[in-house]
Amino acid sequence: MSYFPIQQLLKAAPVGTTITVKGWVRTKRESKNAVFIALNDGSTINNIQAVAETGQLDEDTLKLITTGACLAITGQLVESQGAGQAVEIKITNVTIYGTADPDKYPLQPKRHSLEFLREIAHLRPRTNTFSAILRIRHALAFAVHKYFNDNGFYYLNTPIITASDAEGAGEMFRVTTLDAIKPPLNEEGKVDYSQDFFGRETNLTVSGQLEGELGAMALGKIYTFGPTFRAENSNTTRHLAEFWMIEPEMAFYELEDNMNLAEDFVKNVIRYALQHCADDLAFLDNRLKEEEKTKKKEEQSELSLLEKLHFVISNEFVRLTYTEAIDILVDSKPAKKGQFQYEVKWGVDLQSEHERYLVEKHFKKPVILTNYPREIKAFYMKQDPDGKTVRAMDVLFPGIGEIIGGSQREDDLDKLVARMQEVGIEPEALWWYLDTRRFGSAPHAGFGLGFERLVLFVTGMGNIRDVIPFPRAPKTAEF
Ligand code: ATP
Ligand code: MG
Ligand code: MG
Ligand code: MG
Repeated sequence: MSYFPIQQLLKAAPVGTTITVKGWVRTKRESKNAVFIALNDGSTINNIQAVAETGQLDEDTLKLITTGACLAITGQLVESQGAGQAVEIKITNVTIYGTADPDKYPLQPKRHSLEFLREIAHLRPRTNTFSAILRIRHALAFAVHKYFNDNGFYYLNTPIITASDAEGAGEMFRVTTLDAIKPPLNEEGKVDYSQDFFGRETNLTVSGQLEGELGAMALGKIYTFGPTFRAENSNTTRHLAEFWMIEPEMAFYELEDNMNLAEDFVKNVIRYALQHCADDLAFLDNRLKEEEKTKKKEEQSELSLLEKLHFVISNEFVRLTYTEAIDILVDSKPAKKGQFQYEVKWGVDLQSEHERYLVEKHFKKPVILTNYPREIKAFYMKQDPDGKTVRAMDVLFPGIGEIIGGSQREDDLDKLVARMQEVGIEPEALWWYLDTRRFGSAPHAGFGLGFERLVLFVTGMGNIRDVIPFPRAPKTAEF
């Protein structure tokens, strides 16, 4: 007798053998002659059905087998008479590990709303939708490491507690000790950081990029993949206070190489998910199709989830400059009819509504926008010769907007220092960063991909809080 994960069992079912499966009850159904138990162990979207003859299980045991209870079931694997499954288990023994009082257990065998499930985020991985999302998330994370490993990148761990604000946007959570909170001001009336870690101001990282550049200027090609924190108003469907970011950084890459890498990388990891998560993606595809049916005709999307994923991996992304994009947007119907909430104007950053217009209505393809005005981008981006724009790139995706932000980095020490002074960053505070330009500087580039935005796209979900196991955002559950 051996124990099988259900996924393995359904794939290579050794009909006739006696096996044990362990998992949580999804449903129990009783007919005149038999009782049917659908069990799921999280290894697959598919349940295994176990069947006992009426009277075979004693009344007390039967009563305790309810949705959510955890069981070990032993029996013979037989061909199933029922529709929808090839095999089922003819029960010889049931062990109850843990019961789930039906009056108290919040998950019932019906489709719960995503809003309700967000309130019980600690239990939602037991649902079909969330277990599928989490398995896809896992596969994508694995694909990220595989892609970089296959392409000669080294995985570099950058600090989570750091003194630097890579984005210069002041969206940091401060990290301090309890002692530091008691005397918050020093003699000059300034916040006293002397009790913080390392005796100076420390924060949770907003990006590993600056440290990533140090790695690239030594190892050639590196990537980070770690937790990232932003103390911004995360009350959108695209922002979390805590998210995971993938940041490759490459010596000797210019903007063009950076774009090529971003496009190849994203397509590659999506392809991996299509190959390795077929059942889960088919489930989510169906789920979305049902949801679409409840919408008005004109609001229904033209492509299904699977069609969208195939479309993205088999079409070239459109590439154009920010300036060209502004011209398109200014000429667009929504701009002329005053339908954009935010103004479109050269020099002002694009909002999600503009990005989505370009991708979903104008080009109907993923878009890479480049050469943004220097004023709206971070200090480290390489300046274009015109003095107005920088070698930035944003990758925009349908249904999401910005999924990647990147650039070729400024490798000229004097220009970099001058830009830092312009935007009010003390060059001394980043002396270690500037050393890469002082000693053996080289052209280099990189980008940041918000992992949850990728998972959002691949799963077709609408809210970023639904693609991370434990979302940290305003008003989310208290983990
Ligand atoms: P946005 O314009 O959407 O606020 P950003 O330009 O501030 O994003 P970057 O600093 O360019 O973001 O970070 C790189 C990537 O990290 C973004 O393209 C996005 O995919 C992701 N990202 C940024 N902020 C968040 C967040 N709060 N939650 C989840 N992902 C994020
Ligand atoms: Mg932002
Ligand atoms: Mg942005
Ligand atoms: Mg950005």
